[in-house]
Amino acid sequence: MSRVLEVKNLQQNFALQKGILDKIRFQDGKIQFASEMVHAVNDLSFSIEKGEVFSLVGESGCGKSTTAKTILKIHEPKGGKIFYKDTDITDYSPKEMIPIRREMQMIFQDPYSSLNPRQTVHAMLIEPMLFHGITKNREEADRLVGDLLEKVGLRREQANRYPHQFSGGQRQRIGIARALCVNPELIIADEPVSALDVSIQAQILNLLLDLKDEYGLSLLVIAHNLSVVKHISDRLGIMYLGKIVEQGTKEQIFKNPLHPYTRVLFSAVPTINEEPIIEFDDLIGEIPSVIHLPTGCHFHARCKYAEDICKREYPNSFEVEEGHKVSCHVVENRFRKDKDHRVE
Ligand code: SF4
Repeated sequence: MSRVLEVKNLQQNFALQKGILDKIRFQDGKIQFASEMVHAVNDLSFSIEKGEVFSLVGESGCGKSTTAKTILKIHEPKGGKIFYKDTDITDYSPKEMIPIRREMQMIFQDPYSSLNPRQTVHAMLIEPMLFHGITKNREEADRLVGDLLEKVGLRREQANRYPHQFSGGQRQRIGIARALCVNPELIIADEPVSALDVSIQAQILNLLLDLKDEYGLSLLVIAHNLSVVKHISDRLGIMYLGKIVEQGTKEQIFKNPLHPYTRVLFSAVPTINEEPIIEFDDLIGEIPSVIHLPTGCHFHARCKYAEDICKREYPNSFEVEEGHKVSCHVVENRFRKDKDHRVE
């Protein structure tokens, strides 16, 4: 398999918008201007292979969507590297990003607000095709629009309708058609079904998986719903305060969630006829500030397993088995002790 996307130590932060008086500080008898930063993405690393579905999972505000927008360079990265295939695109200009953006398309959470209400579906699909030179021939473009609509489960004759004439699920199908119309290689789907009725979420997820296989796409899925993640992913990364705290294959993480935060997340999943993934695991404390990040492990103030070292040092990413990595002092110590025990 070849690598489609690699993100290394990605950083993203934003200056907090405040009034001028809030920024004034007195230091050493002098007036200083200070602006506080929101640390949205902190030293994040992962990669996606061709044909793979990788999901970023975590609670709202953990930096998942900011990561997606930074990869697309809607926000300029503040640190780290972004490689698309073998090319370092971290410092690409907006002009240099045009062909890359054709290959990296996005599907948005709210299909209604992501579509132009004044454009017909036909206009919405044909414009990017002509702009990116997918075809120069108007007649062929008309045919491609019809083919694409059928591919995503709509009818050709619906091309002349406006977004308000479709249901939520149909609008998301249009969003998928718009992403596909320029022959992308990687699709970034930001909560692709969370705004839809539960009854049609599975249809849209299955459509995405079918199209992925048919077109040989790779997918980066941003999600907080673990059922969605379980259905669609090959591998996943669990994010907490802008960092991946655990990553591995779907099987590794769903069978054996190790990081205390992953365990809390999984224990919160309601089940009806199935056994819970794990027994309910409790959280303590408050969500820390993304402006003043905690020292050491960012989760220490909420973790009931925290030890002294957790307050001082951020844990390294420790590989417990091939491809399954966890950033936790306690998990790492436990695995090292088990290993020593086995060696003796
Ligand atoms: Fe909890 Fe410490 Fe592990 Fe962080 S490193 S998750 S505080 S046990």
